[in-house]
Amino acid sequence: MLLTGIALAAFVSTMAGGLLALRLRDQLHLILGFSAGAVIGVAFFDLLPEAVNFGFKFRSPSEIMSFTAIGFLFYLVLDRISLFHGDAAPRGSVGAAVLCCHSLLDGVAIGLAFQASRAVGIIVTIAVLTHDFSDGINTMSVVLKNRGDRSVAFRWLVLDAVAPVLGIAATLLFTLPGGGFGIVLALFAGFFLYIGASDLIPESYHAHPKFLTTAMTVAGAAVLYLAIRCIG
Ligand SMILES: [Zn+2]
Repeated sequence: MLLTGIALAAFVSTMAGGLLALRLRDQLHLILGFSAGAVIGVAFFDLLPEAVNFGFKFRSPSEIMSFTAIGFLFYLVLDRISLFHGDAAPRGSVGAAVLCCHSLLDGVAIGLAFQASRAVGIIVTIAVLTHDFSDGINTMSVVLKNRGDRSVAFRWLVLDAVAPVLGIAATLLFTLPGGGFGIVLALFAGFFLYIGASDLIPESYHAHPKFLTTAMTVAGAAVLYLAIRCIG
């Protein structure tokens, strides 16, 4: 019952963020700037600490962090292969797909945390719900920026909003070993750092090298920090 409510809240929060981004499309460079900071904020303030928390019984923090480097470099190679040459749309779809996989794992993290204990479950839930809104914004940003149209972006948004619900539901059927899950979170931290630093940051600044764009990126990271640290 509690999990059903959380799943619904995750869906609504993600959709709200994405629809806001779609509405403010004229200010896309500011949304992209915020998104860049938010993606990097999720990696530093949420995914990496969670990776260490889930994995520390099995591996040292330095081992877990090395999976972040692997994730970063893996995404770099994926980004450079000919798949993306000449056409931006596949790049947007791959970025959106990574965000959807992340949202699926957000749901899995909530379910696993509740398997550990109710208290841990509530902490992880708050961390996820507070950044789901920006997950929605980020999904829209990555598709729109790579010349995807509204309907394509909207389809990815719905998928991203449904993903945490599926993730929570999945944990009712099986249990994941904590060590393995820590590694997956660390890999995703690497993907997010790459998407933020090599895609969203340059793209937001490229056409609009304005002070405000930079301020939005710093604000994006700061909002995520406050959301995850102070509330979570
Ligand atoms: Zn998320």
